[in-house]
Amino acid sequence: MASFSTSRRTAGCLNYAANRRGHDTQHCLLSQFLCGFNYLSPGILVMEGLSKDTNTMQGLIIDTSTEPWEQSRGFTLAEIERPTLDEAANPNDASSVIVKVKYAGVCGSDRGLWHRAAFKDQFLSALERDGKQRRIVGHEFVGEIVEAGSKVESLYADPDPQNYAKIQVGSLVSGDSHVTCGKCYQCRIGEANVCMNESILGITIDGVFAEYVKLPAKNLWAIDESRIRPEIASIMDPFGNAVHALTKVDVRGQRVAVFGAGPIGLFSILIAQKFGAAKVIAVDISAANLELAKQLGADEVIQIQPSQKTNQWEGDPAVIEKIMDITYGKGVDVSLEMAGPASSINNAIDATRRGGHVVLFGVKDGDVTIPHFPRVIVRGLTLHAIIGRQIFETWQISQRLLSQKSNGIQDKVWDVILNGGQDTVLPLSEFDPAAFEQKMNVHPKLVFNMQA
Ligand SMILES: [Zn+2]
Ligand SMILES: [Zn+2]
Repeated sequence: MASFSTSRRTAGCLNYAANRRGHDTQHCLLSQFLCGFNYLSPGILVMEGLSKDTNTMQGLIIDTSTEPWEQSRGFTLAEIERPTLDEAANPNDASSVIVKVKYAGVCGSDRGLWHRAAFKDQFLSALERDGKQRRIVGHEFVGEIVEAGSKVESLYADPDPQNYAKIQVGSLVSGDSHVTCGKCYQCRIGEANVCMNESILGITIDGVFAEYVKLPAKNLWAIDESRIRPEIASIMDPFGNAVHALTKVDVRGQRVAVFGAGPIGLFSILIAQKFGAAKVIAVDISAANLELAKQLGADEVIQIQPSQKTNQWEGDPAVIEKIMDITYGKGVDVSLEMAGPASSINNAIDATRRGGHVVLFGVKDGDVTIPHFPRVIVRGLTLHAIIGRQIFETWQISQRLLSQKSNGIQDKVWDVILNGGQDTVLPLSEFDPAAFEQKMNVHPKLVFNMQA
């Protein structure tokens, strides 16, 4: 339930129609009253979210003081301190914003955190660095900028009047989960996705499974709600992983195999078709995931059957045989490995034709054995590793793919991957760990409604 409060200092634009256009002030009839000078005026009416106290908010956390890492699992819904901008105490706040989070996507890495199966070292050492024991989790989001530091407009608001996508108070924004430094060698040459000093929302700094989050304005991507529905905008970060993978290799006219039909594998199936792949083959252990892959247009699906293996890393010869059948004994031109286990990496390598490309995206802790490694060289394979998104090239392409309604991609993401919102868009206030875990097991993708 929403309530009204007069005590917040900040206000978003209350003109819904103007917000839908990216909050263009020319179209915002209320702008001069509510969105301009009143932004710093106290005593204005603002919609409040779940939390009644204006200094606190609801959020999902991992609390290491009450729950030692190894003995715990899940997230806790807690009343926590609301972030504020305080430029006197923290000069970086001048280029930061407070975002009121609307929707937040649940990622595979959130599953890893839920089960304490991934990111242990990064997570715990960042808490130690900050002298904290609680971390707000979550990194995929869409929300409204409700407060902006004094330098945000001059640094990040495009003065082009044609560009409604402004980083300013009132705008709806998503953004990259990797907070990069902007100073290291990679950042300086336009490869910020491999920044040496990056922080990751919800893992090494506080994340977005909360009513409000403080973010550097440079991470934000303005969203036009009339073109991309907000639930979908909240998952542009993982959609961008798939876009990044499929812009690294040329799939025009190619046979493509996708190993792992989780959310990013499923996005990849849609994007590979749009980018002109001649054939898309989906491989997964789960029949349910393969059913979704089929609904998204995969030309062939192959289910990995359990088999006796001496070593976990061994591939699945039955899968390779099937792929060879489908490709007239050649192998696919491009393999996208989007699952992570060593067996899947070996499948991707073995399924690829001589001279083909193997894109590695799936991440799983531990060692990988690639038997007879020289065959990778002798066959002339090219291996690509994909991390994050190219900021903001990938975001621009993602936006075009999602907002072009005639290509059907946004509708398929919503109808198939998100099950039309049925049982997949979950109100934060009704968070129940057992029910949530059960839904994570059933659906490839879940989204929290952070204001319900
Ligand atoms: Zn993610
Ligand atoms: Zn950097």
